[in-house]
Amino acid sequence: MSSLLELDRLSVSYGGMTALSQVSLQVPEGCVVALLGSNGAGKTTTLRTISGLVRPAGGDIRFRGRSIAGLPPHRIAALGVVHVPEGRGIFRSLTVIENLQMASYGRAAAGSHRDIEAAVEMFPVLGRRLNQAAGTLSGGEQQMLALARAFAAEPVLLMLDEISMGLAPAINAQLFATIRSVAERGISMLLIEQYVDAALALADYCYVLEKGRIVDVGEPEDLRHSEALTAAYLGAGVT
Ligand code: ATP
Repeated sequence: MSSLLELDRLSVSYGGMTALSQVSLQVPEGCVVALLGSNGAGKTTTLRTISGLVRPAGGDIRFRGRSIAGLPPHRIAALGVVHVPEGRGIFRSLTVIENLQMASYGRAAAGSHRDIEAAVEMFPVLGRRLNQAAGTLSGGEQQMLALARAFAAEPVLLMLDEISMGLAPAINAQLFATIRSVAERGISMLLIEQYVDAALALADYCYVLEKGRIVDVGEPEDLRHSEALTAAYLGAGVT
C-alpha cells in the first residue's frame, strides 16, 4: 500500500528543547492512523510540524512522495492537508453558514449551495443552526462545525487534534461515528485522541509516542496489550 504521508526521522526542537526525535511514521492511502501518548509526548507538535506551523530541525516530511518539510502552511493546506487544531479553530463571532463558506474559500465552487448542502447532510444538527453565531453553539455542535469545515475544505489528509476534548461521552460517541463515516469516504486521517479505546476502534494503525520518540507501533489488536501504551495512559483504562 502506498503512503500518502511519510515522516522520515523527523526532529523538532523548541529553543534548546528537543520535542521530537527521529520520528518516522506513515499514513497509507485511505487509512486512519492514531497518534497516542501521554501529555507532552509530542503529538500536537507532530501535527503542527506536518502543517508547516513548526519548522523541523531535521528529517523529512513527504506527502504523495514530495517533500513538504519547511513549506509555508498555506502551501501545505493547498495540497489538501487539513488540520483541525485543539480548541476547534472556528470563528466564534461568525454564523455557522459563514464558517462553512469560509472553509471552502479558494476552491472553484467556494461557498456554493452544494458545499453547504453536503455539510448539512453529513452534520444535520448544523442545518438547524445555520444563522446562529458559532460561539453560541454547544461544545459538541462547535466540534461538529469544526469537522464540517474541515470536510468542506475537501481534505486529502485530515488531521484531528483531540476533538473529543471537554465533551460529554454521549456527544463523543456521535462525534466518533461521524469520524468513522468520514473515513469510510476514503479520506485518510491522522488523529490524536485522549480516549484510547475510541482511537483503537477507529484506527487502522497506531503509533505510541513517548518523550518525542516512537516507542511502539502496530495495528490496534497488537497494541491492546502494549506496555508502552499502558504506561502512557496509566489509569486511563487501557485493558
Ligand atoms: P498534550 O496532550 O498535552 O497536548 P502533546 O503530546 O501534544 O501533549 P506537545 O504539545 O507536542 O505534546 O508538546 C511536546 C513538548 O514540547 C512538551 O514538553 C511541551 O511543553 C513542549 N512544547 C510544545 N509547544 C511548545 C512551544 N510552542 N514552545 C516551547 N515548548 C513547547
